Amino acid sequence: MEPIRQLENEHLGYSDTPVLSSGYHVHDGTRPQMPVVKAEPNQVPSDAVILFDGSSLEGWTNCRDGEACGWKLVEDEAMEVVPGVGDIQTTAEFGSMQLHVEFMSPAVVKGMGQGRGNSGVFLMGQYEIQVLDNWENPTYADGTVGGIYGQTPPLVNSIRKPGEWNVYDILWKAPVFDAEDLVSPAVVTVLLNGVVQHHAVTLKGPTEHRVLPGYKAHADKGPLKLQDHGDLVRFKNIWVREL
Ligand code: MG
Repeated sequence: MEPIRQLENEHLGYSDTPVLSSGYHVHDGTRPQMPVVKAEPNQVPSDAVILFDGSSLEGWTNCRDGEACGWKLVEDEAMEVVPGVGDIQTTAEFGSMQLHVEFMSPAVVKGMGQGRGNSGVFLMGQYEIQVLDNWENPTYADGTVGGIYGQTPPLVNSIRKPGEWNVYDILWKAPVFDAEDLVSPAVVTVLLNGVVQHHAVTLKGPTEHRVLPGYKAHADKGPLKLQDHGDLVRFKNIWVREL
């Protein structure tokens, strides 16, 4: 079978062109075809792992006490922070990935600065992309929604009004370690409501508060963690594609 297949594939391209560093010719017809992903409008890509679709909190645990998640299911196929219960995280762990998360700050505005609609999306359980209601609510730049908390402010503020859903699309390249040594740092690209916040920005280490970040070697995968910062933030439609 193989020779026929080879012949068919050669008809897809060229074998008399220069060879790339990959070992394939430019326009090589025998280069493997890629998997097909169905990507219908407003649908989860067919190869994504759904972490939360509103039907249950299965697959999520409470970080602080190890018991079942204390956040609650609410209307609109969403979950809501239960202040004081603590952060929640997935039992599944991920390294490099494409992550989709939607979130909403309460329509009834309460508090200001870091005290309004504060939560967070912690990649690998320790690198926070800030969630905050920054609609007409300034705070320190590296703590703004879309920011790599405590490190790098977002390029722009594209948050929607309180009570409206926001959409994060995040491309995450996990850091690589060789024993205790950092081989390559984490790199992130973030879009908030389709607007670029970070384009391939290098992280300085896990998220810290009021101190400089720095890397310490850790596992090559970690959970997705959502922050309880005492505010009634909602999340929905969370899915991941491992890269
Ligand atoms: Mg936060």
